[in-house]
This record gives sequence, C-alpha cells and structure tokens, in this order.
Amino acid sequence: MNDPASTHIFGPVPSRRLGLSLGIDLVPFKTCTLDCIYCELGKTATPVTERAEYVSYLQLKSEIETFFSLEDRKLDYITLSGSGEPTLNKALPRVVKLLRKLSKTPIALLTNGTLFSDPEVRREALAVDVILPSLDVVSEELFKTLNRPAPGLDIKEIITGLIALRREYQGQIWLEILFCRGLNDTPKEINRLAKAVAAIKPDKIQLNTVVRPGAMVEAVAVEQAFLKEVLPRFGPQAEIIAPFARDSDYGSTIRKAEETILATLKRRPCTKSDLEQALGLKTVEVIKILDLMLEKGKIKALEHSGKRYFQTIESVLKN
Ligand code: SF4
Repeated sequence: MNDPASTHIFGPVPSRRLGLSLGIDLVPFKTCTLDCIYCELGKTATPVTERAEYVSYLQLKSEIETFFSLEDRKLDYITLSGSGEPTLNKALPRVVKLLRKLSKTPIALLTNGTLFSDPEVRREALAVDVILPSLDVVSEELFKTLNRPAPGLDIKEIITGLIALRREYQGQIWLEILFCRGLNDTPKEINRLAKAVAAIKPDKIQLNTVVRPGAMVEAVAVEQAFLKEVLPRFGPQAEIIAPFARDSDYGSTIRKAEETILATLKRRPCTKSDLEQALGLKTVEVIKILDLMLEKGKIKALEHSGKRYFQTIESVLKN
C-alpha cells in the first residue's frame, strides 16, 4: 500500500476515530508498556518502560521523506501509532518536527497514556494536534488483569500524568475507555472511571469495546446497550465510537487491497496472517481492511481448529 521499502509507514487506513489516517509506527512490532488482553496485535513478549530510539530517527526520516515525495493524497490525520506504544521512542519530537515541514495534515498521537507521568514525555507530546490516550481502569488489580503492565507502572501515577497533561496541553485530548465484559464493566469501576475522567477533563471521551479477537479469550465485548447505558456517566463530551462509514473517501489503494483480498478469498478461506503474506501488507492494515469488509458484509469469519478464517459471502452460501 506504500513504498515497499517502507516498513514503518502504513496505510492510509480507515480509522474509526480519525477518518483516513496515515500511520507511522515509531516502535517495532509489539514494543509496548502494556500487554492488554484485548490487544488485536497479539501478546507483548516483554512489556517495557525504558525509552529509546527503538526505530532510529534516520530510518524514520528516510521513509517519511520518500513517502511524501511520492504521495500527495488527501489525509484526515497522520497518526503516530501502529504496533506498540509510540511514546517509547525518544525520536518522537524530531519526527513531529519533520512531519510539520513536509505536510499540513494534522498529527495525532495514539497512545496508551502510561508514560505521561514523565514530564519529558508530556513536553514532547505538546507539538501534536490531538492526543488519544486510553484509560480502561482505575483499580490497580484490574490494571494488572486487563492491561498487564510492565513492572513499575502504577495506575494512580498514570492518572496523575493525564491530569498534568490536560493542564499543560492546549490541543484536543480524546480519551478512550475500552470495556471488557466481566472486568471493567462493574458499577464500582464505572464510578471510579467517571471520577477519573472528571479530573482529567478530556475534550472527548470515547467508549469502545472489543471489536476484533484479542490476545486472550478473556477479552469479551460488552453489548452496545451497555455502552449506551453508561454513556451519560461520562458527561456530554462522551460518545460511543461509531463504525467507519465514509465509503466515498475510502481511497483507491484500500479499494484495490479489498479487491485483492476478495479475489484471494474466492479461491480459499484464509487467516489474517495468510493474507498478510499473500498481499505484503502489515498486520494493522490487514486488520483494518478485514474489519471494514466484515462491517460491510462482504466477508464472513469462521473459527476452525482454533484459528480464525475469512471467507467470501458467496463461498459461505455455497457450503
Ligand atoms: S492494545 Fe495498545 S497498549 Fe495494549 S498491548 Fe496492544 S499496543 Fe499495547
């Protein structure tokens, strides 16, 4: 979908929160401070908190410059995100500076928010247009069960960091809360989350649930009815994240990828990783495109021998 030499730029992909977004991955696959049970990318081998140039600035600079010399597509956002926690990379402020030079597209930072207790991380984040942190729990015990943090991370310090970020940052903060059934959906936890949100004062609170199979089977989605019921608890700025529905802005590369996926699936059912290999796409790209195709009813997912396969609707009807 982009220059084949580029391994840290992906998309543009349709994002449920940011429209058509070009992703820049600042860390190698699953380099993260957490190991959330719902992580659609699978398990984090070893959660870390140490900041470093996990991908060097020079490497990122070369990929970004190549991308923008070849592409002039209308994007809604450039998103620092991808397959891990972007604030772990110390090159973040230099990348933002470079992007400002090359593009007028707003920059979003998609983060799990765990490092904002560090004043330096907060200072570095000031340069982006919108910060999208997540906060799923307030209780330490649930933090350990649901987000499975790296040693040393403390949920109270994380919340204090988010409150400090709000004080120091003039841009938009859109806080996501992802609910998992039987874990953070209890009245007690919702109460605590509502109090934390009131203290953080984000511009938007986006309620979400598990939409794709996560790292663990324990990650079970709550009902839409539950999200609707708890929505008022988080104030007028709260919303439920809507499915991506802007087909007209969809982008020809994504449409082409969709066609190729359909052609591949017509021949045989495939898993996500079969498609990654067959199409030479990144996991995040394949996940997003499959998600959209499922939403539009173009394909169906089925479980077989513990694996998740995708099939075209035609082949489902034939069998
Ligand atoms: S969901 Fe995000 S924060 Fe959680 S483990 Fe996956 S990449 Fe890290």
